[in-house]
Amino acid sequence: MTRENIFRRYLVSFDSTTLQHIFTDTLIVGSGVAGLSAAIQAAKGGSVLIVTKARINESCTEYAQGGIAAGLCPDDSFEEHINDTLRTGQGLCDDAIVNGVVREGSKRVKELIDWGAKFDRENGELVFAKEGGHSHPRILRARGDSTGKEIEDTFVGMVAKHPRIRVFEHTFAIDLLVSNNTCNGIIAWRSREGKILIRAKQIILASGGCGQVYRETTNPEVATGDGIAMAYRAGVKLQDLEFVQFHPTTLYMAGAGRVLISETVRGEGGILKNKYGERFMPKYHPKAELAPRDIVSRCILLEIHKTGYTHVYLDVRHIPEEKLSTRFPRIKKLCASFGIDISKQLIPVHPSAHYMIGGIKVDQIGRTDVKNLYACGEVSCTGLHGANRLGSNSLLEGLVYGYRVGSEVSKTLEGMKGSLLPCSIKASSKNLWHGELDLEDVRNSLKSLVWRNVGIERDGKHLKEAIEDINLWCKYIIGNEFSATLGWEVQNMLTVSKLISISAYKRCESRGVHYRLDFPDTDNKCWKKHIVIHNGKYDFK
Ligand SMILES: Cc1cc2nc3c(=O)[nH]c(=O)nc-3n(C[C@H](O)[C@H](O)[C@H](O)COP(=O)(O)OP(=O)(O)OC[C@H]3O[C@@H](n4cnc5c(N)ncnc54)[C@H](O)[C@@H]3O)c2cc1C
Repeated sequence: MTRENIFRRYLVSFDSTTLQHIFTDTLIVGSGVAGLSAAIQAAKGGSVLIVTKARINESCTEYAQGGIAAGLCPDDSFEEHINDTLRTGQGLCDDAIVNGVVREGSKRVKELIDWGAKFDRENGELVFAKEGGHSHPRILRARGDSTGKEIEDTFVGMVAKHPRIRVFEHTFAIDLLVSNNTCNGIIAWRSREGKILIRAKQIILASGGCGQVYRETTNPEVATGDGIAMAYRAGVKLQDLEFVQFHPTTLYMAGAGRVLISETVRGEGGILKNKYGERFMPKYHPKAELAPRDIVSRCILLEIHKTGYTHVYLDVRHIPEEKLSTRFPRIKKLCASFGIDISKQLIPVHPSAHYMIGGIKVDQIGRTDVKNLYACGEVSCTGLHGANRLGSNSLLEGLVYGYRVGSEVSKTLEGMKGSLLPCSIKASSKNLWHGELDLEDVRNSLKSLVWRNVGIERDGKHLKEAIEDINLWCKYIIGNEFSATLGWEVQNMLTVSKLISISAYKRCESRGVHYRLDFPDTDNKCWKKHIVIHNGKYDFK
């Protein structure tokens, strides 16, 4: 099977000349921190349309708990934050990007405060928390453990009032329209109109990550990697897809979603214990529970294997009840809904897929290698995180790059007066499969396979097996034409899973969040480089 017949250019057939067209100066796909902050800036230069596949606030941003790393603490320094980020990124960060984002970040966070975001204070002063990997307390939080929601609410409020910004909720972006290496819109789907073309002078992908390709994930259902998959189909360069960050502690209750138990719980003294009630982290790492996330995740797996149990526990019973209520109101309430009183009982936890470090390769202002197409936030790969993300740096990245991309778009629009050229695309497809497909079953089988074979610990044999299985499923699923979002999401998840698996198979070393049991060492001689994917080819740069 060649790339051409597994990877279709468009997931749906259409004739651009007959579909309803909607026009805007700037089109933004996604309404998390990156898309919304880009919208505010882009609107300075013209009209903006945000399309988002669920409600406006359904995003990873909405669920972010711990906080945002910001250089606002008086006795902290940019240099220390930069060094912490570079150390965590294990040789693959772009130094100039790290420098720029950390320094600009404090300006962007101050702006957010001026716009009304309320970060937690004590005696009128901002409070800074410390997380694993940070040498200094510098994490701002809001409403105890609802930082993302506070940021999202602030932006949603601004966007709602903005006369130049329109929002289409429940609108699914299917594919990018690209001709002559220039993007001029998307094909999308809305329940009332069906397929529509949205034409724009500038297009910003801010569609977030792909945690949903894993059975165990902290990500909401919208995080199916659509942006990465549609960029791949359109021939946009991708980078670092093997680097998926796993979060060590998500609530493990049968039947419940895998809700994150923030790292700040360990920062405030939470202790990890195995099935027998024994604390285990000090025997693995000098920083114990505050070791980097990838190490804590692997140690939890080790204890799970050793004890033959499904999970470990987080013990916060020694933390005063009043503190638990003010610092972690959301977590306390969540656990209580499952009958767990965290001041008296242990919290069952397990690692889960959390954050996609790789993504669409962009330059320092968020431009992709396709003209008029930008990417920001988790869907992009800027070089900030390298091989491992320092906690609380991703909200910061979304905020900074949303601003940069939006400002660039607004400047560029000034030189783009006049209307868009007509778009003439005919995409047709043959249904390669004529039987009944149980898409829920494909989706669940894929998620289990990726969790088992492309998870926290990987090896060549299991990665190869995953690639073969995914290839087999791609043969009849990618070739098929679906008419609703579940089908397109499953096709995107297959594409992204395959790209992650191949990148992970090719990187024959362990670095950052990518741990290979068959290549446990970091190999700086051969592997201090990135895997760049473009048109089905994998380059090492
Ligand atoms: C539980 C949890 C806790 C976290 N805690 C922290 C933290 O404390 N600090 C930190 O820095 N980071 C944290 N993160 C990571 C951080 O929240 C994300 O990296 C960040 O919010 C991503 O922002 P974004 O705007 O790029 O994407 P998102 O916020 O995920 O937004 C993506 C948007 O794109 C839309 N979309 C996707 N596909 C399509 C499509 N095909 N068509 C139309 N719309 C589409 C989605 O509906 C959504 O609106 C956490 C993540 C999770 C899941």
